[in-house]
Amino acid sequence: MNNRDNFIPSVKKTMAERVAWRCSFPDCGVITIGPKMGDDSKSINLGEAAHIHAASPEGPRYDALMSSEQRKAIQNGIWMCRSHATFIDADFTEFSPETLRLWKSQAEEQAYSNLKYQERYSIEDNSTLIALGFGIIVNGHWESASHNKWQFRLDSYLKGSIKDLKDYISNFYYTKNDERFILVESQGDARKITMPMTLLFNEAGKNSLVVDVDRKYQPTDPNKSGFDLAIGDDGDICIDNGDLKTVSGVDAAIQHLTTATSTIYGEWFLDPTMGSFVSEYYRDYKDDLEMLSRLIKFEFIRLSLIPTSEDNDSPDSRPPLGFVNRFERVTINSSELVDHRLITHVELEWGNYEKWSGKVPLWIDET
Ligand SMILES: [Zn+2]
Repeated sequence: MNNRDNFIPSVKKTMAERVAWRCSFPDCGVITIGPKMGDDSKSINLGEAAHIHAASPEGPRYDALMSSEQRKAIQNGIWMCRSHATFIDADFTEFSPETLRLWKSQAEEQAYSNLKYQERYSIEDNSTLIALGFGIIVNGHWESASHNKWQFRLDSYLKGSIKDLKDYISNFYYTKNDERFILVESQGDARKITMPMTLLFNEAGKNSLVVDVDRKYQPTDPNKSGFDLAIGDDGDICIDNGDLKTVSGVDAAIQHLTTATSTIYGEWFLDPTMGSFVSEYYRDYKDDLEMLSRLIKFEFIRLSLIPTSEDNDSPDSRPPLGFVNRFERVTINSSELVDHRLITHVELEWGNYEKWSGKVPLWIDET
Protein backbone atom coordinates (compact mmCIF):
# COMPACT_ATOMS: atom_id res chain seq x y z
CA MET A 1 0.00 0.00 0.00
CA ASN A 2 2.55 2.60 1.16
CA ASN A 3 5.66 2.70 3.28
CA ARG A 4 3.92 3.48 6.58
CA ASP A 5 4.48 0.92 9.29
CA ASN A 6 0.86 0.80 10.43
CA PHE A 7 -0.41 -1.36 13.27
CA ILE A 8 -2.43 -4.37 12.18
CA PRO A 9 -6.05 -4.55 13.50
CA SER A 10 -5.36 -7.21 16.13
CA VAL A 11 -2.51 -5.13 17.62
CA LYS A 12 -4.76 -2.05 17.78
CA LYS A 13 -7.51 -4.04 19.43
CA THR A 14 -5.23 -5.41 22.15
CA MET A 15 -3.69 -1.98 22.69
CA ALA A 16 -7.18 -0.55 23.27
CA GLU A 17 -8.28 -3.44 25.48
CA ARG A 18 -5.25 -3.06 27.72
CA VAL A 19 -6.51 0.40 28.71
CA ALA A 20 -10.21 -0.60 28.71
CA TRP A 21 -10.77 1.40 25.48
CA ARG A 22 -10.09 4.65 27.32
CA CYS A 23 -7.83 7.49 26.19
CA SER A 24 -4.39 7.26 27.82
CA PHE A 25 -3.83 11.03 27.96
CA PRO A 26 -3.50 11.97 31.65
CA ASP A 27 -6.87 12.89 33.15
CA CYS A 28 -8.73 12.41 29.86
CA GLY A 29 -9.71 8.74 30.03
CA VAL A 30 -12.75 9.17 27.78
CA ILE A 31 -14.40 5.98 26.55
CA THR A 32 -13.58 5.52 22.88
CA ILE A 33 -16.02 2.74 22.00
CA GLY A 34 -19.79 2.36 21.90
CA PRO A 35 -22.74 1.21 19.85
CA LYS A 36 -23.22 2.32 16.28
CA MET A 37 -26.63 3.92 16.43
CA GLY A 38 -29.01 2.73 13.76
CA ASP A 39 -27.15 -0.55 13.31
CA ASP A 40 -27.65 -2.95 16.19
CA SER A 41 -24.98 -5.31 14.91
CA LYS A 42 -22.08 -2.82 14.94
CA SER A 43 -19.92 -0.84 17.31
CA ILE A 44 -18.17 2.43 16.64
CA ASN A 45 -14.61 3.22 17.67
CA LEU A 46 -13.55 6.83 18.22
CA GLY A 47 -10.10 5.98 19.53
CA GLU A 48 -6.75 5.78 17.78
CA ALA A 49 -3.64 3.70 18.10
CA ALA A 50 -1.10 6.53 18.08
CA HIS A 51 2.52 5.81 17.22
CA ILE A 52 5.08 6.61 19.89
CA HIS A 53 7.77 6.63 17.17
CA ALA A 54 6.17 7.59 13.83
CA ALA A 55 5.21 5.05 11.18
CA SER A 56 6.99 6.98 8.42
CA PRO A 57 10.10 9.19 8.20
CA GLU A 58 8.20 12.50 8.03
CA GLY A 59 6.19 11.69 11.15
CA PRO A 60 6.66 12.80 14.76
CA ARG A 61 9.31 11.12 16.92
CA TYR A 62 10.46 8.98 13.97
CA ASP A 63 13.37 6.73 14.87
CA ALA A 64 15.36 5.66 11.81
CA LEU A 65 17.17 2.97 13.81
CA MET A 66 13.99 0.99 14.47
CA SER A 67 13.02 -1.91 12.25
CA SER A 68 9.69 -2.05 10.50
CA GLU A 69 8.63 -4.82 12.92
CA GLN A 70 9.49 -2.67 15.93
CA ARG A 71 7.48 0.24 14.54
CA LYS A 72 4.41 -1.97 14.08
CA ALA A 73 4.76 -3.63 17.47
CA ILE A 74 2.27 -3.03 20.25
CA GLN A 75 5.08 -1.57 22.40
CA ASN A 76 5.29 1.34 19.93
CA GLY A 77 1.66 2.40 20.32
CA ILE A 78 -0.48 4.30 22.79
CA TRP A 79 -4.29 4.31 22.77
CA MET A 80 -5.84 7.77 22.67
CA CYS A 81 -9.03 9.59 21.85
CA ARG A 82 -8.88 11.35 18.49
CA SER A 83 -8.31 14.84 19.80
CA HIS A 84 -5.42 13.72 22.00
CA ALA A 85 -3.92 11.58 19.25
CA THR A 86 -3.86 14.73 17.10
CA PHE A 87 -2.62 16.83 20.00
CA ILE A 88 0.46 14.71 20.76
CA ASP A 89 1.44 14.71 17.09
CA ALA A 90 0.83 18.42 16.51
CA ASP A 91 3.06 19.29 19.46
CA PHE A 92 5.44 16.39 19.20
CA THR A 93 8.50 18.38 20.21
CA GLU A 94 7.24 18.40 23.76
CA PHE A 95 5.65 14.96 23.97
CA SER A 96 8.75 12.84 24.02
CA PRO A 97 8.68 9.06 23.54
CA GLU A 98 9.56 8.73 27.25
CA THR A 99 6.56 10.84 28.23
CA LEU A 100 4.22 8.80 26.05
CA ARG A 101 5.58 5.52 27.43
CA LEU A 102 5.05 6.81 30.94
CA TRP A 103 1.44 7.73 30.14
CA LYS A 104 0.86 4.38 28.51
CA SER A 105 2.04 2.50 31.56
CA GLN A 106 0.00 4.78 33.85
CA ALA A 107 -3.15 4.14 31.79
CA GLU A 108 -2.52 0.38 31.88
CA GLU A 109 -1.96 0.48 35.64
CA GLN A 110 -5.20 2.42 36.05
CA ALA A 111 -7.08 -0.14 33.92
CA TYR A 112 -5.52 -2.98 35.90
CA SER A 113 -6.45 -1.43 39.20
CA ASN A 114 -10.04 -0.89 38.02
CA LEU A 115 -10.14 -4.51 36.98
CA LYS A 116 -8.54 -5.87 40.12
CA TYR A 117 -10.68 -3.90 42.56
CA GLN A 118 -13.73 -3.75 40.31
CA GLU A 119 -13.85 -0.05 40.92
CA ARG A 120 -15.98 2.29 38.95
CA TYR A 121 -13.66 4.45 36.97
CA SER A 122 -13.84 7.96 38.24
CA ILE A 123 -12.18 10.84 36.48
CA GLU A 124 -13.06 13.05 39.46
CA ASP A 125 -10.26 11.33 41.35
CA ASN A 126 -7.76 12.41 38.73
CA SER A 127 -7.92 16.07 39.52
CA THR A 128 -4.84 18.17 39.06
CA LEU A 129 -3.40 21.23 40.73
CA ILE A 130 -3.31 24.29 38.48
CA ALA A 131 -1.41 27.47 39.29
CA LEU A 132 -2.35 30.75 37.61
CA GLY A 133 0.24 33.41 38.25
CA PHE A 134 1.51 33.75 41.82
CA GLY A 135 -1.80 34.28 43.57
CA ILE A 136 -3.93 31.30 42.58
CA ILE A 137 -3.60 27.55 43.01
CA VAL A 138 -6.76 25.63 42.26
CA ASN A 139 -7.80 21.99 42.02
CA GLY A 140 -9.41 21.22 38.71
CA HIS A 141 -9.46 18.76 35.88
CA TRP A 142 -8.93 18.74 32.16
CA GLU A 143 -11.93 19.27 29.94
CA SER A 144 -10.13 19.65 26.64
CA ALA A 145 -6.76 20.48 25.17
CA SER A 146 -5.39 21.55 21.84
CA HIS A 147 -1.85 22.70 21.24
CA ASN A 148 -2.58 26.31 22.18
CA LYS A 149 -5.89 26.19 24.07
CA TRP A 150 -6.47 24.40 27.35
CA GLN A 151 -9.76 24.07 29.22
CA PHE A 152 -10.30 22.98 32.82
CA ARG A 153 -13.16 22.65 35.22
CA LEU A 154 -12.24 24.37 38.46
CA ASP A 155 -13.15 22.80 41.78
CA SER A 156 -11.53 24.05 44.97
CA TYR A 157 -8.92 26.70 45.73
CA LEU A 158 -5.74 25.96 47.63
CA LYS A 159 -4.48 29.53 47.31
CA GLY A 160 -6.58 32.56 46.31
CA SER A 161 -10.26 32.52 45.39
CA ILE A 162 -12.65 32.90 42.49
CA LYS A 163 -12.53 36.64 43.14
CA ASP A 164 -8.75 36.63 42.78
CA LEU A 165 -9.14 34.72 39.54
CA LYS A 166 -11.59 37.29 38.17
CA ASP A 167 -9.20 40.09 39.20
CA TYR A 168 -6.30 38.27 37.57
CA ILE A 169 -8.26 38.01 34.33
CA SER A 170 -9.48 41.62 34.28
CA ASN A 171 -6.04 42.99 35.20
CA PHE A 172 -4.25 40.68 32.79
CA TYR A 173 -2.67 43.37 30.64
CA TYR A 174 -1.41 45.18 33.75
CA THR A 175 0.09 42.01 35.15
CA LYS A 176 3.86 41.62 34.98
CA ASN A 177 5.07 39.35 32.20
CA ASP A 178 6.59 36.79 34.53
CA GLU A 179 3.23 36.39 36.26
CA ARG A 180 1.27 35.55 33.10
CA PHE A 181 1.61 31.81 33.31
CA ILE A 182 -0.32 28.62 33.94
CA LEU A 183 1.21 25.55 35.52
CA VAL A 184 -0.48 22.14 35.41
CA GLU A 185 0.66 19.41 37.75
CA SER A 186 -0.64 16.41 35.79
CA GLN A 187 1.51 17.29 32.78
CA GLY A 188 4.38 18.84 34.71
CA ASP A 189 3.93 21.67 32.21
CA ALA A 190 3.96 25.45 32.48
CA ARG A 191 3.22 27.95 29.71
CA LYS A 192 2.99 31.65 29.16
CA ILE A 193 -0.65 32.75 28.87
CA THR A 194 -1.06 34.75 25.66
CA MET A 195 -4.35 36.61 26.29
CA PRO A 196 -6.91 37.14 29.06
CA MET A 197 -8.60 33.86 29.96
CA THR A 198 -12.30 33.13 29.54
CA LEU A 199 -14.31 32.01 32.54
CA LEU A 200 -17.43 29.96 31.78
CA PHE A 201 -20.25 28.99 34.12
CA ASN A 202 -22.32 25.83 33.87
CA GLU A 203 -25.70 24.99 35.40
CA ALA A 204 -24.12 23.17 38.31
CA GLY A 205 -22.50 26.43 39.38
CA LYS A 206 -19.07 25.19 38.41
CA ASN A 207 -16.54 27.29 36.54
CA SER A 208 -14.60 26.28 33.51
CA LEU A 209 -11.54 28.17 32.45
CA VAL A 210 -10.32 28.50 28.86
CA VAL A 211 -6.65 29.43 28.60
CA ASP A 212 -4.70 30.40 25.49
CA VAL A 213 -1.15 29.20 25.93
CA ASP A 214 2.15 29.82 24.21
CA ARG A 215 4.45 27.09 22.94
CA LYS A 216 6.43 25.16 25.48
CA TYR A 217 9.94 26.43 26.24
CA GLN A 218 12.60 24.17 24.72
CA PRO A 219 15.24 23.20 27.27
CA THR A 220 18.95 23.71 26.75
CA ASP A 221 21.91 21.43 27.38
CA PRO A 222 23.11 21.72 31.02
CA ASN A 223 26.69 21.19 29.84
CA LYS A 224 26.42 24.59 28.21
CA SER A 225 25.24 26.36 31.34
CA GLY A 226 28.60 28.08 31.78
CA PHE A 227 30.58 28.86 34.92
CA ASP A 228 29.50 29.92 38.35
CA LEU A 229 31.32 30.64 41.56
CA ALA A 230 31.26 27.50 43.67
CA ILE A 231 29.10 27.77 46.78
CA GLY A 232 30.00 25.62 49.75
CA ASP A 233 27.80 23.77 52.22
CA ASP A 234 27.80 26.87 54.44
CA GLY A 235 26.31 28.97 51.62
CA ASP A 236 29.48 31.02 51.17
CA ILE A 237 31.62 31.30 48.08
CA CYS A 238 34.44 28.72 48.16
CA ILE A 239 38.00 29.92 48.23
CA ASP A 240 40.80 27.56 47.36
CA ASN A 241 44.36 28.76 48.12
CA GLY A 242 43.20 32.33 47.77
CA ASP A 243 41.42 31.73 44.47
CA LEU A 244 37.68 31.74 43.99
CA LYS A 245 36.55 28.24 43.09
CA THR A 246 34.24 27.81 40.13
CA VAL A 247 31.85 25.12 38.97
CA SER A 248 30.74 24.51 35.41
CA GLY A 249 28.45 22.39 33.26
CA VAL A 250 26.17 19.96 35.09
CA ASP A 251 27.77 20.86 38.44
CA ALA A 252 26.81 24.50 37.87
CA ALA A 253 23.32 23.39 36.85
CA ILE A 254 22.94 21.34 40.06
CA GLN A 255 24.10 24.27 42.17
CA HIS A 256 21.62 26.47 40.32
CA LEU A 257 18.72 24.27 41.49
CA THR A 258 19.52 25.56 44.97
CA THR A 259 20.32 29.18 44.14
CA ALA A 260 17.31 29.76 41.83
CA THR A 261 14.85 28.65 44.50
CA SER A 262 16.56 30.06 47.58
CA THR A 263 15.96 33.79 47.08
CA ILE A 264 12.54 34.93 48.20
CA TYR A 265 10.58 36.12 45.20
CA GLY A 266 10.77 39.89 44.81
CA GLU A 267 13.51 40.43 47.39
CA TRP A 268 16.55 40.67 45.15
CA PHE A 269 16.63 44.37 44.36
CA LEU A 270 18.66 44.03 41.16
CA ASP A 271 16.03 41.75 39.65
CA PRO A 272 12.72 41.54 41.53
CA THR A 273 11.48 38.81 39.18
CA MET A 274 14.03 36.39 40.62
CA GLY A 275 13.41 33.92 43.38
CA SER A 276 10.75 31.51 44.54
CA PHE A 277 7.92 30.91 46.98
CA VAL A 278 9.62 27.95 48.64
CA SER A 279 9.91 29.67 52.05
CA GLU A 280 6.24 30.65 52.01
CA TYR A 281 5.21 27.08 51.11
CA TYR A 282 7.46 25.75 53.85
CA ARG A 283 5.80 28.01 56.42
CA ASP A 284 2.29 26.97 55.31
CA TYR A 285 2.82 23.25 54.65
CA LYS A 286 5.72 22.02 56.76
CA ASP A 287 3.30 19.65 58.53
CA ASP A 288 2.08 18.21 55.23
CA LEU A 289 5.18 16.85 53.50
CA GLU A 290 3.24 15.49 50.53
CA MET A 291 1.68 18.85 49.70
CA LEU A 292 4.94 20.64 50.43
CA SER A 293 6.85 18.47 47.97
CA ARG A 294 4.13 18.95 45.33
CA LEU A 295 4.31 22.73 45.71
CA ILE A 296 8.10 22.78 45.62
CA LYS A 297 7.98 20.69 42.46
CA PHE A 298 5.57 23.32 41.11
CA GLU A 299 8.20 25.99 41.72
CA PHE A 300 10.90 23.93 40.02
CA ILE A 301 8.64 23.44 36.99
CA ARG A 302 7.82 27.14 36.81
CA LEU A 303 11.49 28.10 37.04
CA SER A 304 12.39 25.63 34.28
CA LEU A 305 9.72 26.76 31.80
CA ILE A 306 8.71 30.37 32.47
CA PRO A 307 11.20 33.14 31.68
CA THR A 308 11.47 35.52 34.61
CA SER A 309 12.73 38.56 32.77
CA GLU A 310 10.33 41.44 32.25
CA ASP A 311 11.71 41.75 28.77
CA ASN A 312 10.29 38.67 27.10
CA ASP A 313 11.28 39.75 23.63
CA SER A 314 14.93 39.71 24.52
CA PRO A 315 16.72 36.63 23.18
CA ASP A 316 18.44 36.28 26.58
CA SER A 317 15.15 35.86 28.32
CA ARG A 318 15.35 32.30 29.58
CA PRO A 319 13.81 30.45 32.47
CA PRO A 320 16.34 30.34 35.36
CA LEU A 321 16.32 26.51 35.25
CA GLY A 322 15.82 26.29 31.47
CA PHE A 323 18.32 23.45 31.21
CA VAL A 324 15.89 20.96 32.77
CA ASN A 325 13.51 19.09 30.49
CA ARG A 326 11.34 17.56 33.18
CA PHE A 327 11.16 17.37 36.97
CA GLU A 328 10.03 13.82 37.64
CA ARG A 329 9.88 13.74 41.39
CA VAL A 330 10.61 15.85 44.43
CA THR A 331 10.72 13.99 47.73
CA ILE A 332 11.01 15.46 51.20
CA ASN A 333 11.52 13.02 54.05
CA SER A 334 11.64 15.48 56.89
CA SER A 335 10.62 19.09 57.41
CA GLU A 336 13.43 19.52 59.92
CA LEU A 337 15.83 22.16 58.67
CA VAL A 338 19.56 21.48 58.55
CA ASP A 339 21.41 24.81 58.95
CA HIS A 340 18.33 26.67 57.66
CA ARG A 341 18.08 24.35 54.71
CA LEU A 342 15.30 21.99 53.70
CA ILE A 343 16.76 18.84 52.22
CA THR A 344 14.90 17.69 49.11
CA HIS A 345 15.60 14.78 46.84
CA VAL A 346 15.06 15.60 43.18
CA GLU A 347 14.74 13.30 40.16
CA LEU A 348 14.91 15.06 36.81
CA GLU A 349 15.75 14.83 33.15
CA TRP A 350 18.18 17.46 31.83
CA GLY A 351 17.67 19.35 28.57
CA ASN A 352 19.96 16.83 26.86
CA TYR A 353 17.63 14.00 28.05
CA GLU A 354 20.13 12.58 30.52
CA LYS A 355 18.68 11.70 33.91
CA TRP A 356 19.94 12.93 37.26
CA SER A 357 18.83 12.45 40.80
CA GLY A 358 20.28 13.77 44.01
CA LYS A 359 20.03 15.92 47.07
CA VAL A 360 19.07 19.57 46.61
CA PRO A 361 19.19 21.74 49.75
CA LEU A 362 16.84 24.75 49.71
CA TRP A 363 17.48 27.77 51.90
CA ILE A 364 14.44 28.59 53.98
CA ASP A 365 13.76 32.02 55.41
CA GLU A 366 11.70 31.37 58.54
CA THR A 367 11.05 35.01 59.35
ZN1 LIG B 1 -8.21 11.97 25.26
